[in-house]
Amino acid sequence: MKEHNFKDFVLLLEQLEKESGRIAMREILARFLKECSDLEIEAVVYLTLGKVAPDYKEIILGVSNALCLKVLARVAGYSERTIKARFNEVGDIGELAHQVLKPRDTPPVTINWVFEQIIKLSKDTKIEYKLDVMAATLVKLQPIEAKYYFRILLEQLRVGVQEPTVLEALTLAKLGSLDELDQVRRAYHLCGDVGYVAKVLYSKGLSAIKEFKVSCGLPIVPMLAKPLKSSEELFEKTEGQLVVEYKYDGLRVQAHICDSDHIELFSRNLGRYTEQFPDLVEYLRESVQVFPCILEGEIIAYDFETDEILPFQLLVRRRGRKYDIEEMSKEIPVALMVFDILLYQSKELIDLPFEERRAILLKALKPHPHVKIINSEKVTNVEQIEIIFQKAIQDGTEGLIGKHIKSRYVPGKRGIGWFKLKRDYQSHLADTIDCVVIGAYHGTGRRAGSYGSLLCAIKSADGVYRTVCKLGSGITDEMVDTLPQMLEPLKLNKPPKNVNVSSEMEPDIWFEPKIVLEVEAAEITLSPIHTAAFGKIHPNVGLALRFPRLKRFRDDKSPEDITTEDELIELYRQQPQQKVVRSADIQALMFSGRKRTVRKKERKVADEKQKTLDSFF
Ligand code: ATP
Repeated sequence: MKEHNFKDFVLLLEQLEKESGRIAMREILARFLKECSDLEIEAVVYLTLGKVAPDYKEIILGVSNALCLKVLARVAGYSERTIKARFNEVGDIGELAHQVLKPRDTPPVTINWVFEQIIKLSKDTKIEYKLDVMAATLVKLQPIEAKYYFRILLEQLRVGVQEPTVLEALTLAKLGSLDELDQVRRAYHLCGDVGYVAKVLYSKGLSAIKEFKVSCGLPIVPMLAKPLKSSEELFEKTEGQLVVEYKYDGLRVQAHICDSDHIELFSRNLGRYTEQFPDLVEYLRESVQVFPCILEGEIIAYDFETDEILPFQLLVRRRGRKYDIEEMSKEIPVALMVFDILLYQSKELIDLPFEERRAILLKALKPHPHVKIINSEKVTNVEQIEIIFQKAIQDGTEGLIGKHIKSRYVPGKRGIGWFKLKRDYQSHLADTIDCVVIGAYHGTGRRAGSYGSLLCAIKSADGVYRTVCKLGSGITDEMVDTLPQMLEPLKLNKPPKNVNVSSEMEPDIWFEPKIVLEVEAAEITLSPIHTAAFGKIHPNVGLALRFPRLKRFRDDKSPEDITTEDELIELYRQQPQQKVVRSADIQALMFSGRKRTVRKKERKVADEKQKTLDSFF
């Protein structure tokens, strides 16, 4: 099979960019992947996702806007000043490159060649080196190719394709149908690397995909818990065969102890924590003496003198830190509360029932003050759950995780055997909502010059971000000062791809959906102005969060992990005492359906509509 030119790939990206339906994108991508060889599939997959490798490989290109403008000026033959001025007008380096570069009379380059040139950028941190590599690449690219080259370098590809779509497209392309999709997904869940899965599928076929195993050093996509509203429900869902454990409020970590010199810590989102928690690496080295071994647990900040859990806000000061790590580990000591074991002495444990994994876990760890096994209590009735739940709250945890004692560890799945009971006394909701920020409104008063509120969205099954609240509450004065700087790189001059926002809610500024926030709310209500679950509960209305309040930033989650539309609908239905809303009332409040430009007055009207609808409840 002939290798594809980068130009063919760019045409694919252009096609994907114009398409918004997830299924249509999958078909377009599958048609292209079908023509790819096993030698180029890895590069194609990563580049389609706008990456060069999975996040945990930490391949840092170290390319900034300033560097791109410099190289563009050099290759296009303009002064840096002129290029900067043009950039201020155009606002997008890819688009600018397309405009200022001239068509070239050079032979076409392949996808693999461009991919290698991009990877080369990670080999040296010196600016001059990067400038030379980028210039040497750019002189071989046509203007349209340069547009996407820059977007990839700056992680601004935004064609809207994510891992689940790539996995489906790969399966369709290589196996002709989606019948074996679960096998391909499973392989991805066991290594967190879609490029690697693609390479194995293409070079060795389905039989090799079926043989994927847990392996030390490759993160497993974590199993998740489903929120429930009551102890009765927990008892029922687990058929009365359960243990309950405290739900510690910390950072989830997967510890891979490959041998005493090779220990890796992975985050919930398959990033790396290893360098951020060297103290924990040391504690694990002391307490685990049989290799290889994979443990899962929650890192918490802990005061060993008073024997108390410290607030999550302190713990997050250690996350993402590049400097002063040693001092910080003394200032904010941590403990790992281990709740599962997935590999032990090379034996894969994920398919064993929970109770057997637990027995192995108890044997695997040497007692250590900083590495503790979570208490797991077997219960036989609802009252027992209630008592332990009250104690969990008193002890300062978030609530309980209930686990079916026969449940397997199912990577990447929510609600197969694991359930969570959290209590927020003021809320009718079983869980907080994870949203992504897609826009913001200018602030006034104390917030003048910054953002007054943020437009937040959840995600529907077709990959569209749908709004669920305008969030102002819970944003502290300190955040008000830092928000503009934090959101600056994500600013867009038009709505991002794949968002559905009513005209009444159009924000003053749009952002690429990247920042994930955990939001608490009093309840979920019907909404005439938000588009989440639009038309799914009642015709012409969506769902919105009532009294939303920022709980925290979730930089351990990506937009892939936010609350889905189906989960939101389920939380809505779990609420007690749903009143029957008359259709006529809703009709009176529904969208006009016309596309209008946004005006301040409209927003006011929209807020009024929401208040009226809330008053029905
Ligand atoms: P949340 O936002 O509520 O922390 P999440 O979306 O990160 O949840 P869930 O699957 O909904 O993940 O809840 C399970 C999370 O609870 C785990 O990811 C883990 O970080 C944490 N946790 C705390 N204690 C336990 C425990 N004993 N067993 C399993 N998970 C636990």
